[in-house]
Amino acid sequence: MPLKKRVRPFLVAVFFLLTIACGPVSDLITRPTPISQLQLALVTEVTPTEAVVPPTIAATATHTVAPTQTSTPVPTETHTPAPTNTAEPTVPPTAEPTATPNDIYLNATDIRFHPAPCQYSGDSLSVEVFVENWNRFDPKTIEVALYAGSGDERTFLDNTIVSPFGIGGRMQATFYWAWDTTNLEGPQDLTIVLDPDDRLIEGDEDEANNTVTTTVLLQPDSVRPGNEAGGTWETVETDCCSILYTTNTAAARDIDTIVPIINDAVAHAEADLNIQLEEKIQINLLNRVLGHGGFASGTTMSITYIDRQYSGGQLWSVIAHETSHILDRKINAKRPTLLTEGLAVYVAGGHFKKEPLVTRIAAVLDDGDFIPFDETFVNNFYDAQHEISYLQAGALVQYLIERNGEETFFRFLRTLPEEGTHYERIRDGLRIQYQLSFEELETEWRAWLEDQPKNELWADDIRNTVNFYDTVRRYQSFYDQDAYFLSAWLPSIRQTISDNNVAEFTRHPATPENVTLELMLVEAENALQRGEQDKSTDMINRVNQILDRNELPDPFAVDPVAINLYQIVQQIMAAGYEPQFMETTGVNEITIHAIDNWPTLTTIPIEIGNFGDWKLAEELVPNDDGRFVSCN
Ligand SMILES: [Zn+2]
Repeated sequence: MPLKKRVRPFLVAVFFLLTIACGPVSDLITRPTPISQLQLALVTEVTPTEAVVPPTIAATATHTVAPTQTSTPVPTETHTPAPTNTAEPTVPPTAEPTATPNDIYLNATDIRFHPAPCQYSGDSLSVEVFVENWNRFDPKTIEVALYAGSGDERTFLDNTIVSPFGIGGRMQATFYWAWDTTNLEGPQDLTIVLDPDDRLIEGDEDEANNTVTTTVLLQPDSVRPGNEAGGTWETVETDCCSILYTTNTAAARDIDTIVPIINDAVAHAEADLNIQLEEKIQINLLNRVLGHGGFASGTTMSITYIDRQYSGGQLWSVIAHETSHILDRKINAKRPTLLTEGLAVYVAGGHFKKEPLVTRIAAVLDDGDFIPFDETFVNNFYDAQHEISYLQAGALVQYLIERNGEETFFRFLRTLPEEGTHYERIRDGLRIQYQLSFEELETEWRAWLEDQPKNELWADDIRNTVNFYDTVRRYQSFYDQDAYFLSAWLPSIRQTISDNNVAEFTRHPATPENVTLELMLVEAENALQRGEQDKSTDMINRVNQILDRNELPDPFAVDPVAINLYQIVQQIMAAGYEPQFMETTGVNEITIHAIDNWPTLTTIPIEIGNFGDWKLAEELVPNDDGRFVSCN
């Protein structure tokens, strides 16, 4: 009988995406993305609880490694994005031909497998089951059992109860690594039984709708994608860190570039806080975006490192941010979220990238998006608009340090009252160390911010940043729900590594639709990093137009750039390559960098005709190993 591995659900953060620009062809693409694009996403800190209770999300910061070609990010013109447009990923709709049952029941569409979206022989499969009408009972009393096979032939695998999953607390039965498929191949039945011991009576009148048998197609192990095939976790040790990555991936390919960036960011945080690490940090480099691109817990950080990094954020900044969290426990073990996140943003010199905190937050104030420091915000920091709340916290820390010096600030942090809500502790601490009430501090700071010189570019940048991340979250909610932060699939990374499981944090949806939208988001993010705000805005808008039509037959047709890109992506993928990022290489030429065999990138030139039509500049040699490139 398989061991039950109850895993802690981790939370993830979200990402963003950007779009490509249109207009004169050569403008379409932002400039060349450096191959070793160390872009990262936001990390969410996860509270390491074994509990099934949704972990508190700690926020994270992210950063991208500054692309080779840096330009000072000049802000762009954006609009304050309407609050996240994210649609909470829907549980697969029940499609009942007959009347929907009133009692508790299961539906074949209420089941998800992991790793996803396809499965191979040898995978250790996890299953999520969404029980219909679960709210008719106390969830703890709803048992669900999982069996391999069907009918009388079935074999018990595992059982569990309905409980909240992920940051969003979605109610479901979650079976982690319940089915070892080694030596199995082809279609395999799996049976799920609700209330197997028939303990539920009133509210479960119909026993017949409590059992569902579904079929999983296990593809041969020999066709596993190249970034998983024969893959293994490897480790590089440095003075500060154990850096883990899997073979045949972008991280493995770029590890010599990554190591000095990580070492430098950690050393920076240590120097800034004047605290030395007591133990090594473990940094896991993941091959897919989850949430905002990573998550952190204790002294472990898990960060996305891929070529088609659509969630933005620079590696250096994420590492500096997360290291600050590890170190600042030495200042005060019980840190109000506003201050710990603010300090991390301050130490990293920005949230997703280095940025002038004061100038940007002054723009937020000017736009009317400043979040008042009331009890709701301070006590529920992670519920506020993500990008603005972090920036505001970082800028407040900077203000306090500049106002009365570092010594006073760190004394304030060290001596915060132990009791009370986050709001009360900060309020009382301010009175003691700064002789200010929270309200007086806010009023004084706002007045000071209003006097700061305005910079339209940075004002645009903050608007675009918010809009970009909202769009990333929106993309995930429609096209990659397992990455969507509220319900991200985040099994224990520790267990994944100790099992040498490479698939879990590698496999992800990579259809031509996913690839096209992600390329557009990468473009939007690159434009943002370069300070080309108009291009970034344009690309973000294009992505959103497509997302608006995600349920219509041909959503890409709405936009000329998107449809051209989508068609080219289909051709490239059909030939066995997986596009990762684009660059403008001529007046009417774009180059798409694509994986041919993991982790090798090859270049594919694209010509743009007079009518804006895209075509391959040269015939593409079919990549014999192409079917190994991605899982679809
Ligand atoms: Zn953080």
